[in-house]
Amino acid sequence: MQRRTKIVATLGPSTDDPKMLDKIIEAGVDVVRVNFSHGTPEEHKERAEKIRNRARAHGRQIGVLCDLQGPKIRIEKFKNKKVYLEEGATFILDTQLDANAGDETRVGVAYKQLPDDVKRGDTLLLDDGRVLLWVNDVNTNEVICRVMLSGELSDRKGINKQGGGLSAPALTDKDRNDIKTAAEIQADYLAVSFVRTAEDVNEARKLLRDAGGHGAIVAKIERSECLEVIDSIIEASDVIMIARGDLGVEIGDAALPPVQKDLIRRAREMNRVVITATQMMESMITSHIPTRAEVFDVANAVLDGTDAVMLSAETASGKYPDKVIAAMDRIALEAEKQRQVTKSDHRINTSFSRIDEAIAMAAMYTANHLGVKAIASLTESGATALWMSRISSGIPIYALTSHVETRRKVTLYRGVYPVSFEPTTKDHVEVNREAVEELLRRGAVRDGDLVILTKGDLMGVMGGSNAMKIIRVGEHTPE
Ligand code: PGA
Ligand code: MN
Repeated sequence: MQRRTKIVATLGPSTDDPKMLDKIIEAGVDVVRVNFSHGTPEEHKERAEKIRNRARAHGRQIGVLCDLQGPKIRIEKFKNKKVYLEEGATFILDTQLDANAGDETRVGVAYKQLPDDVKRGDTLLLDDGRVLLWVNDVNTNEVICRVMLSGELSDRKGINKQGGGLSAPALTDKDRNDIKTAAEIQADYLAVSFVRTAEDVNEARKLLRDAGGHGAIVAKIERSECLEVIDSIIEASDVIMIARGDLGVEIGDAALPPVQKDLIRRAREMNRVVITATQMMESMITSHIPTRAEVFDVANAVLDGTDAVMLSAETASGKYPDKVIAAMDRIALEAEKQRQVTKSDHRINTSFSRIDEAIAMAAMYTANHLGVKAIASLTESGATALWMSRISSGIPIYALTSHVETRRKVTLYRGVYPVSFEPTTKDHVEVNREAVEELLRRGAVRDGDLVILTKGDLMGVMGGSNAMKIIRVGEHTPE
């Protein structure tokens, strides 16, 4: 059995060792994330290039996802790197304080609008909620807070407002520059942080296209207010990421599980891809085995129907990047044996609006009910494979395409595997035969197996799938 759920791993200092890069490829990483919150454009370019080189050496396709930092609001630095805040003490966030002058009483904030965005009675969460501040008073450059929960606070930690409502736009000047880097890298995916509206997604897409990038757009769902307009955001994006770190701080951790389930269901119904992210294997930053709770978290995300599970610090700066991927791999594989994710009655009562969509649905319905071994989707853009992969199934979907960009893109889709395919002829029967040959060569099927093949009459036209054929391997008859 091959794993259907895809693994996204963040690159970082821990994966820079070429030996480790090979190990994470062997452990089964499908997509790597280059995090623009840390490092320089040169480092990002180098990491993307290295992973592609190694992937080629392993005969694998690995997608590259560039993740913009976005308007993450942070405190500046302390004179002594960190302070201890006592419950009940007064602590001031000061937009005019020197960046390195923080102490027990106040710290600088580069985001000048902070005093405009908060009012007395608001709660601010620092360092992903480890420090809780209650806003007591606000003036032009100071937010005067009372410490509600004692704790350590160190340099450059993030600030979130409970309930959301910080007004910073999603794309900063740094992000606009980084989009150019993402285009140079030829990123397969560009992730936009702190999206507020569909407009943010559209703008990022336009900037990427203007810079010459072809990547698909990932909207990171991590602001409370975007949940109110979620369908329009999903509609505008190709992929959503459930960014549970910041989202959990804004909506409260207890609200996350139902929101995760709802977002995964919506994304799939709207023919969009979904990544579940943050702290999935957090303890493995330092431990070589996951906690039981982490095992359940990964398995539950698979049962919820996510396309991909993501690793952040676990692989970027953790001790065991390869082991954590291997652990996710085995947990996902086991979860995928559950009947609820291999059979589907998804969309049984809805009507279809496109021909390729109808072909994809018919193929999946047939595949799930006829004992088919594999699906071969001859595709240009991957669109038909995407439609297909929204349907729960245990049957592998091979996206056969001559386009390397499409092969990299489908690395993220659940149950879809990229196959390089260049038919030597335009003859339909012959193309079918070559497609089945390709699956035979990969060991995906054997003589006697049933294969469903979909394609368009006009090969080379995007979204043009209009035919489905059921073939028994080894029994080719002319049409
Ligand atoms: P980040 O996004 O790692 O870029 O902060 C993920 C999250 O907030 O969960
Ligand atoms: Mn985030």
